[in-house]
Amino acid sequence: MIDAVLPTYNRAPLAFERGEGAWAIAADGTRYLDLGAGIAVNVLGHANPELVAALTEQAGKIWHVSNLYQIPQQQRLAELLVGSTFADTVFVTNSGTEAAELAIKMVRKYWSEKGQPDRIEILTFEGAFHGRSTGAIAAAGSEKMTKGYGPLMPGFRTLPWGDLAALEAAISDRTAAVMLEPVQGEGGIRPMADEDLRKIRALCDRTGALLVLDEVQCGMGRTGRLFAHEWAGVTPDIMMVAKGIGGGFPLGAVLATAEAASGMGVGSHGSTYGGNPLACAVGTRVMEIVADDAFLAEVNRKGALFRQKLEGLVAAHPDVFEDVRGVGLMLGLRCKVAPTEVVAAAYDEHLLTVPAADNVVRLLPPLNISDEEITEAVARLDRAATTLEG
Ligand SMILES: *Cc1c(COP(=O)(O)O)cnc(C)c1O
Repeated sequence: MIDAVLPTYNRAPLAFERGEGAWAIAADGTRYLDLGAGIAVNVLGHANPELVAALTEQAGKIWHVSNLYQIPQQQRLAELLVGSTFADTVFVTNSGTEAAELAIKMVRKYWSEKGQPDRIEILTFEGAFHGRSTGAIAAAGSEKMTKGYGPLMPGFRTLPWGDLAALEAAISDRTAAVMLEPVQGEGGIRPMADEDLRKIRALCDRTGALLVLDEVQCGMGRTGRLFAHEWAGVTPDIMMVAKGIGGGFPLGAVLATAEAASGMGVGSHGSTYGGNPLACAVGTRVMEIVADDAFLAEVNRKGALFRQKLEGLVAAHPDVFEDVRGVGLMLGLRCKVAPTEVVAAAYDEHLLTVPAADNVVRLLPPLNISDEEITEAVARLDRAATTLEG
C-alpha cells in the first residue's frame, strides 16, 4: 500500500512543531540545533520576529492578486535586487526549479531573437543540481535524477567539474550558455575557484555564450557576500536565486542583464503565484536585512570561526573526517564514513545536518547563528564522531 504522501523522500523519523532562531523544537519539547536550516533556506533562523511581522502584516491586507495587476511588493523586491546586483531586471518565481526553467528558456529566447534559433547548447558541469523539472534534470544530467523519465530535453552537455581545459575545448561561437553553481551544494560543497570563474567569464565573453549562475543555494549571503560570484569579481548574464531569499517562504527569482533578457517580451513567460504579495513582503524584508555590509561581515567572521573549530574537529577524528570545505557559512565535512552515518549520529546528539554527494555532510546554519551556538554545534559533532569511532 502506498503512503498518503507520495513516497519520494527518505525522511528521518523526526518532526518539529516550532522553531526559535537556530533551534527546531519537537512536540515533546526536545530542542535540535539546526545546521540544515531547511537546506540553506532559513537564513534568519526559525520564527524570526521581523519576518513574522512582514508576513503577518501582509497577510492581514491581501494575499494574492495575480500578475494581471501591479504588485507593489514585487516591484519593491525587484528594485532591491537590481540595486544590489549586476541585474537590470528580475522575474519572481516560487522556487529554484522554476528559476532554472526560466533561465534555460531565456537563453534559448535570446539566441532565437538574435536570429540563431539553433544555438541551444548549454554547457553544464558534473555534480550540478538545478532542480527537478524535466529541463533542470536534463541540465544536471545525472543518471540518478533522469533515469526512467524518457527522452530528455536536448541541448545540454555535461563537463567534468572544474575542468577548464574541457570547457575550452567544448565552448565555441555555437554555444548558447555556460551554466553552473559558483559553489555546488548538492554536489558536495564544491567551490569553483575564483580564478576559474574568471576564466569561464572570459571564455563566455570570447564566444558570446551567456554565463548563467545558479546561486539558489550559495547566494543570499551564504558565502559571506550577497552572491558568491562577487568573490571572483565577475558578473553573470543570468542568475537563479531561491532558497534563502524567502527565509522559509517559497520564493525564487531570475535576475538578468537587460541584454540577456532582451528576448523576453509580454506573454513570453508567466506564473500565477510567482511574485505574489505575501512572498514578496517576506523576500523584501530578507533582502533589507541580508544585503547589508555589517550583516555580511558577521557571516564572514562566523564562517571563519566555524571553519577553524571544524579543522580542530577533523584533526581530532581522523578516522571519521577527511577535511573541511566551503565558503562562509556554506561548509562541508568530507567524511571517511558514509555521510548518512554522521547525519544519523548527529541526530542522536540533537543536531541537524544535511548529507550531500562526494561523501560530504553539509553545515548550512542560519546566517545569524551565534558564536555560542557554533561552539555548541562543534561539541555535538565531536560527540557524534566519537560514537562512530567506538
Ligand atoms: C535547491 C536547488 C535548486 C532547486 O530549488 P527548488 O526550490 O528545490 O526548486 C536549484 N539549484 C540549486 C543550486 C539548488 O540548491
